[in-house]
Amino acid sequence: MRLSRYFLPVLKEDPKEAQIVSHRLMLRAGMIKQQTAGIYSWLPLGYRVLRRIEQIVHEEQERAGHVPLLMPTLQPADLWRESGRYDDYGEEMLRITDRHKRDLLYGPTNEEMITDIFRSHVNSYKDLPLTLYHIQWKFRDEIRPRFGVMRGREFLMKDGYNFDLTKEDALHAYNRHLVSYLRTYERMGLQAIPMRADGGPIGGDYTHEFLVLAETGESEVFYDSQITDLTFGDRQIDYDDHAQCQAVLEEFTSRYARTDETHDEAIFADVPEDRRRTARGIEVGQIFYFGTKYSEPMGATVVGPDGARVPVHMGSHGIGVSRLLGAIIEANHDDKGIIWPEGVTPFHAGIVNLKQGDETTDGACESIYGEMRAAGLEPLYDDRNDRAGAKFASMDLIGLPWRITVGPRGLAKNIVELTNRRSGDSIELSPQDAVARLVEIYRPILQASARA
Ligand code: ATP
Ligand code: MG
Repeated sequence: MRLSRYFLPVLKEDPKEAQIVSHRLMLRAGMIKQQTAGIYSWLPLGYRVLRRIEQIVHEEQERAGHVPLLMPTLQPADLWRESGRYDDYGEEMLRITDRHKRDLLYGPTNEEMITDIFRSHVNSYKDLPLTLYHIQWKFRDEIRPRFGVMRGREFLMKDGYNFDLTKEDALHAYNRHLVSYLRTYERMGLQAIPMRADGGPIGGDYTHEFLVLAETGESEVFYDSQITDLTFGDRQIDYDDHAQCQAVLEEFTSRYARTDETHDEAIFADVPEDRRRTARGIEVGQIFYFGTKYSEPMGATVVGPDGARVPVHMGSHGIGVSRLLGAIIEANHDDKGIIWPEGVTPFHAGIVNLKQGDETTDGACESIYGEMRAAGLEPLYDDRNDRAGAKFASMDLIGLPWRITVGPRGLAKNIVELTNRRSGDSIELSPQDAVARLVEIYRPILQASARA
């Protein structure tokens, strides 16, 4: 992309309405525009990151054997009357009446609708296990939308639902989701810690929230510091192998890590004092096993091996796709702006032309731009007629992990500068070597997508 033809409305001043750094930086970097409280337009740069995050979520879901579909945002109220949640949900639900006076709602989640799809089409235990998911806009009329996309009213969520014959199989689905979520967040450059959460009205131990530690997080969390040493890394995992998935769950949930809802001082006291931590966290996902809570009242049954119909065991599993942008920025920024992890960056590198209009410099930038694209990389070329200082400042603000700086003085010696956004370190290389270096850096990231 050439910046002269792009739409990147960066702001010079700090917007007054933003209380936290991610919200401020998303507005300043021209990623989002608020349309009304908790409802945003995604401007081109923000939309690119949003799509990138969606893509990683899709890849990891499909890798785990989960099947994508797409349900609508508007739902008939009658489905929710069947489960009893139409009345329970309260004012967070946006209720709509159509011209025929039929009650609709803008879905805050999709348990009812997916259960309806399941009961209409699945009849036998032989069609199980099945996990269906989608990435779709949700609406919750939050009492206090704030912090930009972190707590919106309209927000993008991945929500998945497993259908299994037995509780044991459904718990395997739970474990499989935990594993796939660990991989998903790590690919985004995030450490999201599974923490024991509140089972809500259903109770039980089977729910974990994934939290990114950050001062601005809305949840108070308590954990054993050893948990922050764990990484999933590049392990190969067979998602059908119950024991393997169970072992990962045990590894990642055996140390103390809880949100304030389930925190227990007495158990926490058993953690050695120097490892006890209290902090704040951003909830970026949650997994849940809830048995037959929806399948029973809604009649989602299958014919079991002995010929009798039984309700299926279900769980639901959510990732806050749009909230993740805020969480990633909270965890990756400095006083100059955002620092995108390579896995989610909107562009792989910026090209800064120090002397726009100079034939040699323009030509060198064009070849770097062309070579990067030919190698499967997406550069953002700042080809505007602007001062070098202004170009550097906007590159730093929008946070691309790498920058190639091209000027006549360097080119006279056949060198350009390759700068790392996070460390600020620069090295001098020939233009060809700079491109080759970027290809090398991004190879594992492009391969992770290709393998999925
Ligand atoms: P919270 O406790 O933050 O209100 P929740 O527990 O009600 O969230 P879930 O139903 O578990 O949310 O939804 C799955 C994920 O969707 C959450 O983990 C979170 O990342 C995201 N999410 C929930 N509410 C919002 C919101 N208002 N804005 C943006 N993302 C949200
Ligand atoms: Mg939750």
